Amino acid sequence: MLIRYVIGRPIAPTKPKVLKSGSISKDVRSDTTEALYLRACEVEQVEPDETYVDHLRQRDLHAWVYRLDIVCTDELMSAALYDAQKAQAAIAKAPALPPRNGWACQRCRWRSHCEGDPMATHAGQWLDVAEGRPPTPLAVKHGRNTYRIKRERLGFVVSPSELRSWLTCPRLWYLEYARRLRRVVESKKALPRLRGSLTHEAIRLLTKNPNVDLRLEVELAIKELAEAGALEYDAQSELIAADQVEAIADRARSMFDLAMSGVAEVIEYEQRRIMRMPGSKKWLHGIPDAVVRMEDGRLAVIEYKTTSYKNLPNVADGYRTDPGVHLYAALLQHGQLATS
Ligand code: SF4
Repeated sequence: MLIRYVIGRPIAPTKPKVLKSGSISKDVRSDTTEALYLRACEVEQVEPDETYVDHLRQRDLHAWVYRLDIVCTDELMSAALYDAQKAQAAIAKAPALPPRNGWACQRCRWRSHCEGDPMATHAGQWLDVAEGRPPTPLAVKHGRNTYRIKRERLGFVVSPSELRSWLTCPRLWYLEYARRLRRVVESKKALPRLRGSLTHEAIRLLTKNPNVDLRLEVELAIKELAEAGALEYDAQSELIAADQVEAIADRARSMFDLAMSGVAEVIEYEQRRIMRMPGSKKWLHGIPDAVVRMEDGRLAVIEYKTTSYKNLPNVADGYRTDPGVHLYAALLQHGQLATS
């Protein structure tokens, strides 16, 4: 089965600087585009530098959107299921306070909390921490009957994200899945996540209707978030700027176009799938971003990712060995759609 990652950086490019001499900056580290540079040259009536134009043209090929196609072989799928099974069994037997993996703390959002309260004695009262959402109800259909899956039994039904959390650090799993706590990230620090959610939403709209007015939809989505109190003033004023709305809308469209290259039909979009784990009565569930049929007849799982990092090929390479998509492939091959 084919796995297609489409990675985008939904942030507005920087406008090239006009130097005191009247020429346009040719800084190779500048996060700009060929189009913006040529426009600046036109406005300032400066002859474009061909070498710099070439540099920007090459950079544009991978600085904003990037695609990585990989094949999930039967061996990779089986290995991911084997690892998932073992992790799931460990979750089911988790002690009341699972241990920490201090080697993972460096990049963890809970670092300062775990440092100050290493036994998580007061986890419920930590600053900037709120209760997360309860687990989504899950059910599967067997003929005319609907079977409800018990969500209160830890480890009975897990998602790739839950497995990742357990394998990163059992304490991380405890905080986010057993205690269902979440970090409250405020103001501008939440911008990367908000940009990611808005881009995903824009891609969802495009999948339903490729002719949608995306800039308008993104603007409306930002206003809705603000009205719902999910956006603080400074984050809103940055997101609603015309160039930022345009960046999110344009990146969503480029990501969608890149994802749909060679695709004959979209079979599912963000549908929750569920399967019995082989040789077990436990369950695995997950939501692939999209399931498509390629023009050559192969099925493919599409995963859209957004990032703030500038080196998209490097970001893509990091995802190359992510077992989450191999589990999505297993959910597609062996699972069924879940109901709630
Ligand atoms: S949850 Fe785990 S990885 Fe994260 S800071 Fe705490 S001990 Fe470290």
